[in-house]
Amino acid sequence: MNLNEQLSNPTIESSLKDWREQGGLTRLEGSRCLNCNELFFPRRTVCPVCHQQKLIPYRFSGKGTIVNIEINNIPQVAIFGYREISPRYLAIIRLDEGVNILGEIIECDKADSLLNKTVHMVIRKQSRSSNTSWKYGYKFKLDNK
Ligand SMILES: [Zn+2]
Repeated sequence: MNLNEQLSNPTIESSLKDWREQGGLTRLEGSRCLNCNELFFPRRTVCPVCHQQKLIPYRFSGKGTIVNIEINNIPQVAIFGYREISPRYLAIIRLDEGVNILGEIIECDKADSLLNKTVHMVIRKQSRSSNTSWKYGYKFKLDNK
């Protein structure tokens, strides 16, 4: 095992929580309110708009546009993948369905030309769990790559 590899911190992460969030991490599964049709990611059990509890799973397309980008030279310990990959490009992505989410842009080099570029979701290794199995989740790649 590489010493720089990021390990999940068992005091702040739980395998039960990972299991519950698996649909969101690997399939971009959020929620849609049956009353007002509002979409949410991550998923919710109560609609913050109309306060109804009638929400059903909604799978987002994974296509979107970069609306904000930040170069991070000190990777987040808990949220994103390996420590040795630096810098990381963290972006706010507006999904085609109109919901903004935070994601990492991979396989790109210049952060300043990334604004307003279209991206699509890919599945990548994120970090190793406390039980040493790999945790997979969504990241984003530019459409032209
Ligand atoms: Zn609602």
